[in-house]
Amino acid sequence: MKVIIQKFGGSSVATIESRQAVIKKIAKAKQNGYQVVVVVSAMGRSGDPYSTDTLINLVKRSKQMIKTKELDLLISCGEVISAVVLCSEIEEAGYSSCCLTGPEAGIITDDSHGNARVLEVHPAEVQRMLTQGKIVIVTGFQGRTGDGKISTLGRGGSDTSAAAIGVALEAERVEIYTDVDGVKTADPRMFDDARTLDRITYNELCQLAHEGAKIIHPRAVEIAMQQNIPLKICNTFSDHPGTLVTSGKAIYEQPTQIKDNIITGIAHISNIAQIRIKIEGAAKKNSNVTEVFKLMADDNISVDFIYASLEEVIFTVRQEVLEKAVCILEENKIEPMVRENCAKVAAVGAGMTGVPGVMANIVSALNENSIEILQSSDSYTSIWCLVDQKDLKKAIRALHSQFGLHERADQKAE
Ligand code: ADP
Ligand code: ASP
Ligand code: MG
Repeated sequence: MKVIIQKFGGSSVATIESRQAVIKKIAKAKQNGYQVVVVVSAMGRSGDPYSTDTLINLVKRSKQMIKTKELDLLISCGEVISAVVLCSEIEEAGYSSCCLTGPEAGIITDDSHGNARVLEVHPAEVQRMLTQGKIVIVTGFQGRTGDGKISTLGRGGSDTSAAAIGVALEAERVEIYTDVDGVKTADPRMFDDARTLDRITYNELCQLAHEGAKIIHPRAVEIAMQQNIPLKICNTFSDHPGTLVTSGKAIYEQPTQIKDNIITGIAHISNIAQIRIKIEGAAKKNSNVTEVFKLMADDNISVDFIYASLEEVIFTVRQEVLEKAVCILEENKIEPMVRENCAKVAAVGAGMTGVPGVMANIVSALNENSIEILQSSDSYTSIWCLVDQKDLKKAIRALHSQFGLHERADQKAE
Protein backbone atom coordinates (compact mmCIF):
# COMPACT_ATOMS: atom_id res chain seq x y z
CA MET A 1 0.00 0.00 0.00
CA LYS A 2 1.18 3.53 -0.74
CA VAL A 3 2.52 5.52 2.23
CA ILE A 4 2.29 9.27 2.62
CA ILE A 5 3.83 11.44 5.35
CA GLN A 6 1.90 14.55 6.38
CA LYS A 7 3.71 16.97 8.70
CA PHE A 8 1.73 19.69 10.44
CA GLY A 9 3.52 22.71 11.92
CA GLY A 10 2.77 24.63 15.10
CA SER A 11 0.11 26.93 13.67
CA SER A 12 -1.73 23.96 12.11
CA VAL A 13 -2.13 22.15 15.43
CA ALA A 14 -2.58 25.26 17.61
CA THR A 15 -6.36 25.26 18.18
CA ILE A 16 -9.28 22.88 18.05
CA GLU A 17 -10.49 24.65 14.87
CA SER A 18 -7.10 24.41 13.14
CA ARG A 19 -6.85 20.73 14.10
CA GLN A 20 -10.19 20.13 12.37
CA ALA A 21 -8.54 21.42 9.17
CA VAL A 22 -5.65 19.02 9.85
CA ILE A 23 -8.05 16.09 10.24
CA LYS A 24 -9.66 16.96 6.89
CA LYS A 25 -6.28 16.68 5.14
CA ILE A 26 -5.56 13.35 6.84
CA ALA A 27 -9.03 12.03 5.99
CA LYS A 28 -8.56 12.97 2.36
CA ALA A 29 -5.28 11.05 2.16
CA LYS A 30 -6.99 8.01 3.74
CA GLN A 31 -9.84 8.26 1.20
CA ASN A 32 -7.24 8.34 -1.56
CA GLY A 33 -6.00 4.96 -0.36
CA TYR A 34 -2.82 5.98 1.49
CA GLN A 35 -1.39 4.63 4.70
CA VAL A 36 -0.85 7.87 6.59
CA VAL A 37 1.94 8.83 8.97
CA VAL A 38 1.32 12.21 10.60
CA VAL A 39 4.25 14.14 12.09
CA VAL A 40 3.35 16.97 14.44
CA SER A 41 5.08 20.03 15.88
CA ALA A 42 4.32 21.53 19.28
CA MET A 43 1.14 23.61 19.40
CA GLY A 44 1.28 27.26 18.39
CA ARG A 45 4.08 29.77 18.46
CA SER A 46 5.90 31.85 21.06
CA GLY A 47 3.50 32.85 23.85
CA ASP A 48 1.08 29.97 23.29
CA PRO A 49 0.77 27.66 26.34
CA TYR A 50 2.50 24.51 25.04
CA SER A 51 4.77 25.91 22.33
CA THR A 52 8.49 25.13 22.26
CA ASP A 53 9.38 28.75 23.09
CA THR A 54 7.05 28.70 26.09
CA LEU A 55 8.72 25.53 27.37
CA ILE A 56 12.19 27.05 26.88
CA ASN A 57 11.10 30.16 28.79
CA LEU A 58 10.17 28.01 31.79
CA VAL A 59 13.85 27.49 32.51
CA LYS A 60 15.35 30.60 30.92
CA ARG A 61 14.97 32.70 34.05
CA SER A 62 17.08 30.36 36.12
CA LYS A 63 20.63 31.72 36.58
CA GLN A 64 22.10 28.26 36.39
CA MET A 65 21.99 27.39 32.68
CA ILE A 66 20.26 24.06 32.32
CA LYS A 67 22.20 21.39 30.43
CA THR A 68 21.14 20.77 26.83
CA LYS A 69 20.33 17.14 27.66
CA GLU A 70 17.77 18.19 30.28
CA LEU A 71 16.49 20.98 28.03
CA ASP A 72 15.84 18.40 25.31
CA LEU A 73 13.77 16.39 27.76
CA LEU A 74 11.67 19.47 28.52
CA ILE A 75 11.15 20.74 24.97
CA SER A 76 10.34 17.31 23.60
CA CYS A 77 7.13 17.50 25.71
CA GLY A 78 5.57 20.06 23.32
CA GLU A 79 5.30 17.55 20.50
CA VAL A 80 4.03 14.83 22.89
CA ILE A 81 1.17 17.10 23.96
CA SER A 82 0.10 17.97 20.44
CA ALA A 83 0.35 14.34 19.23
CA VAL A 84 -1.89 13.01 22.00
CA VAL A 85 -4.46 15.81 21.63
CA LEU A 86 -4.61 15.33 17.85
CA CYS A 87 -4.86 11.54 18.29
CA SER A 88 -7.90 11.90 20.54
CA GLU A 89 -9.59 14.21 18.03
CA ILE A 90 -8.83 11.88 15.11
CA GLU A 91 -10.40 8.99 17.02
CA GLU A 92 -13.40 11.17 17.80
CA ALA A 93 -13.75 11.75 14.06
CA GLY A 94 -14.09 7.98 13.62
CA TYR A 95 -10.57 6.92 12.57
CA SER A 96 -8.24 4.52 14.34
CA SER A 97 -5.03 6.27 15.41
CA CYS A 98 -2.02 5.89 17.69
CA CYS A 99 0.93 8.02 18.87
CA LEU A 100 4.60 7.16 18.75
CA THR A 101 7.44 9.26 20.14
CA GLY A 102 10.48 9.91 17.94
CA PRO A 103 12.42 7.14 19.76
CA GLU A 104 9.48 4.71 19.42
CA ALA A 105 9.36 5.53 15.71
CA GLY A 106 13.02 4.45 15.56
CA ILE A 107 14.69 7.83 15.02
CA ILE A 108 18.30 7.48 16.15
CA THR A 109 20.48 10.60 16.35
CA ASP A 110 23.99 11.62 17.28
CA ASP A 111 24.42 13.07 20.76
CA SER A 112 24.53 16.79 19.87
CA HIS A 113 21.67 17.66 22.19
CA GLY A 114 19.65 20.63 20.97
CA ASN A 115 20.69 20.21 17.37
CA ALA A 116 21.07 16.48 16.84
CA ARG A 117 21.48 14.89 13.42
CA VAL A 118 19.43 11.89 12.42
CA LEU A 119 21.76 8.93 11.88
CA GLU A 120 19.29 6.11 11.27
CA VAL A 121 15.59 5.38 11.28
CA HIS A 122 14.24 1.94 12.21
CA PRO A 123 10.55 2.23 11.35
CA ALA A 124 9.38 -1.30 12.31
CA GLU A 125 6.89 -0.07 14.90
CA VAL A 126 5.48 2.56 12.52
CA GLN A 127 5.03 -0.15 9.89
CA ARG A 128 3.37 -2.49 12.38
CA MET A 129 0.84 0.19 13.35
CA LEU A 130 0.21 1.09 9.71
CA THR A 131 -0.57 -2.51 8.82
CA GLN A 132 -3.19 -2.47 11.59
CA GLY A 133 -4.90 0.28 9.60
CA LYS A 134 -4.02 3.03 12.08
CA ILE A 135 -3.19 6.65 11.34
CA VAL A 136 0.23 6.80 13.00
CA ILE A 137 1.06 10.11 14.68
CA VAL A 138 4.76 10.61 15.34
CA THR A 139 6.02 13.41 17.57
CA GLY A 140 8.29 15.55 15.40
CA PHE A 141 11.57 17.16 16.48
CA GLN A 142 12.68 14.22 18.66
CA GLY A 143 14.99 11.27 18.45
CA ARG A 144 17.05 9.09 20.72
CA THR A 145 20.81 9.08 21.08
CA GLY A 146 22.86 5.87 20.95
CA ASP A 147 22.75 5.70 24.76
CA GLY A 148 18.98 6.06 24.91
CA LYS A 149 18.62 9.76 25.81
CA ILE A 150 15.96 11.99 24.24
CA SER A 151 17.48 14.40 21.72
CA THR A 152 15.95 17.21 19.64
CA LEU A 153 16.75 18.07 16.03
CA GLY A 154 17.17 21.86 16.15
CA ARG A 155 14.48 24.54 15.83
CA GLY A 156 12.05 23.70 13.06
CA GLY A 157 13.26 20.09 13.23
CA SER A 158 9.84 18.41 12.84
CA ASP A 159 10.32 18.88 9.10
CA THR A 160 13.47 16.77 9.42
CA SER A 161 11.57 14.05 11.30
CA ALA A 162 9.01 13.92 8.49
CA ALA A 163 11.64 13.68 5.76
CA ALA A 164 13.65 11.02 7.63
CA ILE A 165 10.56 8.86 8.23
CA GLY A 166 9.52 9.39 4.61
CA VAL A 167 12.85 8.07 3.39
CA ALA A 168 12.79 5.11 5.80
CA LEU A 169 9.30 4.10 4.66
CA GLU A 170 10.02 4.88 0.99
CA ALA A 171 6.95 7.11 1.07
CA GLU A 172 5.37 8.26 -2.15
CA ARG A 173 5.54 11.84 -0.92
CA VAL A 174 6.25 13.94 2.16
CA GLU A 175 3.76 16.77 2.60
CA ILE A 176 4.73 19.71 4.81
CA TYR A 177 1.60 21.57 5.90
CA THR A 178 1.92 25.10 7.21
CA ASP A 179 0.09 28.45 7.27
CA VAL A 180 0.99 29.71 3.76
CA ASP A 181 0.19 28.27 0.31
CA GLY A 182 3.71 27.02 -0.40
CA VAL A 183 7.21 28.30 -1.06
CA LYS A 184 7.02 31.94 -2.04
CA THR A 185 9.38 34.16 -3.94
CA ALA A 186 10.12 36.03 -0.69
CA ASP A 187 9.02 35.85 2.95
CA PRO A 188 5.33 36.88 2.86
CA ARG A 189 5.76 38.55 6.26
CA MET A 190 8.23 40.96 4.69
CA PHE A 191 6.67 41.37 1.28
CA ASP A 192 2.94 41.15 0.48
CA ASP A 193 3.40 40.59 -3.27
CA ALA A 194 5.46 37.41 -2.94
CA ARG A 195 4.16 34.74 -5.32
CA THR A 196 3.70 31.05 -4.53
CA LEU A 197 5.94 28.85 -6.68
CA ASP A 198 4.41 25.78 -8.37
CA ARG A 199 7.74 23.98 -8.31
CA ILE A 200 11.24 24.41 -6.96
CA THR A 201 14.33 22.22 -6.96
CA TYR A 202 15.67 20.61 -3.78
CA ASN A 203 18.86 22.60 -4.22
CA GLU A 204 17.15 25.95 -4.53
CA LEU A 205 14.87 25.31 -1.57
CA CYS A 206 17.80 24.09 0.48
CA GLN A 207 19.68 27.30 -0.24
CA LEU A 208 16.66 29.49 0.51
CA ALA A 209 16.19 27.61 3.79
CA HIS A 210 19.88 27.99 4.72
CA GLU A 211 19.59 31.70 3.95
CA GLY A 212 16.75 32.22 6.38
CA ALA A 213 13.53 31.21 4.56
CA LYS A 214 11.84 29.60 7.55
CA ILE A 215 9.31 27.69 5.47
CA ILE A 216 11.24 24.41 5.92
CA HIS A 217 14.31 23.14 7.75
CA PRO A 218 17.22 22.78 5.27
CA ARG A 219 18.13 19.38 6.68
CA ALA A 220 14.68 18.06 5.73
CA VAL A 221 15.28 19.08 2.13
CA GLU A 222 18.73 17.45 2.11
CA ILE A 223 17.34 14.18 3.45
CA ALA A 224 14.49 14.08 0.92
CA MET A 225 16.90 14.99 -1.88
CA GLN A 226 19.26 12.10 -1.04
CA GLN A 227 16.52 9.57 -1.81
CA ASN A 228 14.67 11.68 -4.37
CA ILE A 229 11.45 11.59 -2.30
CA PRO A 230 9.11 14.33 -3.56
CA LEU A 231 8.30 17.01 -1.01
CA LYS A 232 5.20 19.13 -1.16
CA ILE A 233 4.73 22.32 0.83
CA CYS A 234 1.03 23.10 1.27
CA ASN A 235 -1.40 25.17 3.30
CA THR A 236 -3.43 23.38 5.97
CA PHE A 237 -6.10 26.02 5.64
CA SER A 238 -6.64 26.11 1.86
CA ASP A 239 -6.98 23.83 -1.14
CA HIS A 240 -4.15 25.56 -2.99
CA PRO A 241 -2.04 22.87 -4.75
CA GLY A 242 1.14 24.07 -2.99
CA THR A 243 4.76 23.85 -4.13
CA LEU A 244 6.26 20.61 -5.37
CA VAL A 245 9.94 20.15 -4.56
CA THR A 246 11.83 17.81 -6.85
CA SER A 247 15.11 17.40 -8.68
CA GLY A 248 16.07 19.89 -11.38
CA LYS A 249 15.68 17.14 -13.99
CA ALA A 250 12.04 16.56 -13.05
CA ILE A 251 11.34 20.28 -13.27
CA TYR A 252 12.90 20.72 -16.68
CA GLU A 253 10.81 17.85 -18.03
CA GLN A 254 7.67 19.86 -17.26
CA PRO A 255 6.00 21.81 -20.08
CA THR A 256 5.62 24.90 -17.87
CA GLN A 257 9.16 24.71 -16.59
CA ILE A 258 10.86 27.66 -14.97
CA LYS A 259 14.07 27.59 -16.95
CA ASP A 260 13.99 31.23 -17.97
CA ASN A 261 13.87 32.35 -14.34
CA ILE A 262 17.28 33.58 -13.33
CA ILE A 263 16.25 34.08 -9.73
CA THR A 264 13.74 31.76 -8.06
CA GLY A 265 13.42 33.42 -4.68
CA ILE A 266 14.82 35.84 -2.16
CA ALA A 267 15.62 34.97 1.44
CA HIS A 268 16.93 37.08 4.26
CA ILE A 269 18.50 36.86 7.69
CA SER A 270 18.22 39.78 10.12
CA ASN A 271 20.23 40.59 13.25
CA ILE A 272 23.71 40.38 11.83
CA ALA A 273 26.76 42.36 12.92
CA GLN A 274 29.75 43.15 10.76
CA ILE A 275 33.22 43.00 12.32
CA ARG A 276 36.13 44.77 10.66
CA ILE A 277 39.75 44.41 11.77
CA LYS A 278 42.37 46.72 10.29
CA ILE A 279 45.81 45.21 9.91
CA GLU A 280 48.09 48.19 10.32
CA GLY A 281 50.61 49.53 12.83
CA ALA A 282 50.89 47.29 15.90
CA ALA A 283 48.21 44.92 14.58
CA LYS A 284 50.59 43.86 11.81
CA LYS A 285 52.85 42.28 14.41
CA ASN A 286 50.00 40.59 16.28
CA SER A 287 49.96 37.03 14.96
CA ASN A 288 46.48 36.55 16.49
CA VAL A 289 45.06 38.60 13.64
CA THR A 290 45.77 35.83 11.15
CA GLU A 291 44.25 33.37 13.60
CA VAL A 292 41.00 35.28 13.98
CA PHE A 293 38.84 32.65 12.26
CA LYS A 294 40.38 29.92 14.35
CA LEU A 295 39.64 31.95 17.50
CA MET A 296 35.99 32.20 16.45
CA ALA A 297 35.77 28.52 15.52
CA ASP A 298 37.32 27.46 18.85
CA ASP A 299 34.38 29.13 20.58
CA ASN A 300 31.82 27.72 18.17
CA ILE A 301 31.03 31.12 16.66
CA SER A 302 30.08 30.74 13.05
CA VAL A 303 31.25 33.49 10.72
CA ASP A 304 29.97 34.56 7.33
CA PHE A 305 30.76 37.10 4.59
CA ILE A 306 34.47 36.55 5.06
CA TYR A 307 36.85 38.97 3.38
CA ALA A 308 40.56 38.89 4.10
CA SER A 309 43.31 41.02 2.54
CA LEU A 310 46.73 42.23 3.65
CA GLU A 311 45.09 45.42 5.00
CA GLU A 312 41.98 44.13 6.70
CA VAL A 313 39.81 41.23 7.74
CA ILE A 314 36.03 41.54 7.59
CA PHE A 315 33.34 39.07 8.57
CA THR A 316 29.86 38.89 10.04
CA VAL A 317 28.41 37.10 13.05
CA ARG A 318 24.88 36.71 14.37
CA GLN A 319 24.00 39.62 16.66
CA GLU A 320 23.39 37.28 19.63
CA VAL A 321 27.03 36.13 19.68
CA LEU A 322 28.53 39.57 19.00
CA GLU A 323 29.41 40.30 22.62
CA LYS A 324 31.20 36.97 22.96
CA ALA A 325 33.04 37.48 19.64
CA VAL A 326 34.23 40.97 20.61
CA CYS A 327 35.33 39.68 24.01
CA ILE A 328 37.45 36.94 22.42
CA LEU A 329 39.05 39.42 20.02
CA GLU A 330 39.87 41.91 22.77
CA GLU A 331 41.34 39.17 24.95
CA ASN A 332 43.69 38.52 22.01
CA LYS A 333 44.61 42.20 21.73
CA ILE A 334 42.62 42.67 18.54
CA GLU A 335 40.56 45.83 18.26
CA PRO A 336 37.49 45.25 16.12
CA MET A 337 35.26 47.90 14.54
CA VAL A 338 31.66 46.78 14.76
CA ARG A 339 28.62 47.69 12.70
CA GLU A 340 25.43 46.37 14.25
CA ASN A 341 21.91 46.07 12.77
CA CYS A 342 22.79 44.56 9.43
CA ALA A 343 20.82 42.03 7.38
CA LYS A 344 21.74 39.56 4.69
CA VAL A 345 19.61 39.34 1.59
CA ALA A 346 20.13 36.35 -0.69
CA ALA A 347 18.94 35.95 -4.27
CA VAL A 348 18.77 32.23 -5.12
CA GLY A 349 18.20 30.59 -8.49
CA ALA A 350 19.61 27.63 -10.40
CA GLY A 351 18.98 29.70 -13.54
CA MET A 352 21.76 32.18 -12.73
CA THR A 353 24.56 29.66 -13.29
CA GLY A 354 26.71 30.84 -16.16
CA VAL A 355 24.50 33.85 -16.90
CA PRO A 356 26.57 37.04 -17.09
CA GLY A 357 25.41 40.29 -15.50
CA VAL A 358 23.31 38.95 -12.62
CA MET A 359 25.44 40.70 -10.02
CA ALA A 360 25.36 43.89 -12.10
CA ASN A 361 21.56 43.73 -12.10
CA ILE A 362 21.49 43.30 -8.36
CA VAL A 363 23.87 46.20 -7.79
CA SER A 364 21.89 48.51 -10.05
CA ALA A 365 18.56 47.55 -8.42
CA LEU A 366 19.96 48.31 -4.98
CA ASN A 367 21.73 51.49 -6.12
CA GLU A 368 18.61 52.85 -7.78
CA ASN A 369 16.86 52.47 -4.45
CA SER A 370 19.71 54.17 -2.54
CA ILE A 371 20.57 50.98 -0.67
CA GLU A 372 24.19 50.72 0.37
CA ILE A 373 25.78 47.29 -0.19
CA LEU A 374 28.06 46.74 2.79
CA GLN A 375 29.46 43.46 1.45
CA SER A 376 28.56 40.96 -1.22
CA SER A 377 29.43 37.44 -2.20
CA ASP A 378 28.28 34.82 -4.70
CA SER A 379 28.21 31.14 -5.65
CA TYR A 380 26.87 29.29 -8.70
CA THR A 381 23.27 29.62 -7.58
CA SER A 382 23.17 32.44 -5.00
CA ILE A 383 24.20 36.05 -4.58
CA TRP A 384 24.29 37.56 -1.10
CA CYS A 385 24.36 41.21 -0.10
CA LEU A 386 24.83 42.64 3.36
CA VAL A 387 22.71 45.74 3.89
CA ASP A 388 21.65 47.91 6.79
CA GLN A 389 18.63 46.40 8.60
CA LYS A 390 16.61 49.55 7.88
CA ASP A 391 17.02 48.91 4.12
CA LEU A 392 16.05 45.24 4.21
CA LYS A 393 12.40 45.49 3.12
CA LYS A 394 13.33 47.96 0.41
CA ALA A 395 16.08 45.61 -0.82
CA ILE A 396 13.74 42.60 -1.01
CA ARG A 397 11.19 44.69 -2.93
CA ALA A 398 13.84 46.06 -5.30
CA LEU A 399 15.26 42.62 -6.15
CA HIS A 400 11.81 41.08 -6.46
CA SER A 401 10.86 43.68 -9.01
CA GLN A 402 14.23 43.69 -10.83
CA PHE A 403 13.92 39.96 -11.56
CA GLY A 404 10.17 39.99 -12.32
CA LEU A 405 9.44 37.51 -9.55
CA HIS A 406 5.78 38.48 -9.31
CA GLU A 407 5.24 37.10 -12.84
CA ARG A 408 5.02 33.39 -13.54
CA ALA A 409 7.83 32.19 -15.79
CA ASP A 410 5.44 30.58 -18.29
CA GLN A 411 3.43 33.84 -18.50
CA LYS A 412 6.63 35.79 -19.01
CA ALA A 413 7.61 33.59 -21.93
CA GLU A 414 4.33 34.26 -23.76
P1 ADP B 1 5.33 25.78 10.80
O1 ADP B 1 4.96 26.10 12.20
O2 ADP B 1 4.15 25.31 9.99
O3 ADP B 1 6.51 24.89 10.68
P2 ADP B 1 6.98 28.04 10.13
O4 ADP B 1 6.68 29.30 10.86
O5 ADP B 1 8.16 27.25 10.58
O6 ADP B 1 5.66 27.16 10.13
O7 ADP B 1 7.15 28.32 8.57
C1 ADP B 1 6.13 28.97 7.86
C2 ADP B 1 6.46 30.45 7.71
O8 ADP B 1 7.64 30.60 6.93
C3 ADP B 1 5.42 31.26 6.97
O9 ADP B 1 4.39 31.69 7.83
C4 ADP B 1 6.24 32.41 6.39
O10 ADP B 1 6.08 33.57 7.13
C5 ADP B 1 7.68 31.97 6.54
N1 ADP B 1 8.47 32.09 5.31
C6 ADP B 1 9.71 32.62 5.22
N2 ADP B 1 10.16 32.61 3.97
C7 ADP B 1 9.19 32.04 3.21
C8 ADP B 1 9.06 31.74 1.82
N3 ADP B 1 10.04 32.00 0.94
N4 ADP B 1 7.92 31.16 1.41
C9 ADP B 1 6.93 30.88 2.26
N5 ADP B 1 6.98 31.14 3.59
C10 ADP B 1 8.10 31.71 4.07
N1 ASP C 1 8.53 22.61 17.94
C1 ASP C 1 9.86 22.75 17.40
C2 ASP C 1 10.21 24.22 17.18
O1 ASP C 1 9.40 25.08 17.48
C3 ASP C 1 10.05 21.94 16.14
C4 ASP C 1 9.18 22.36 14.97
O2 ASP C 1 8.21 23.08 15.14
O3 ASP C 1 9.49 21.94 13.85
O4 ASP C 1 11.31 24.50 16.78
MG1 MG D 1 8.63 25.19 10.65
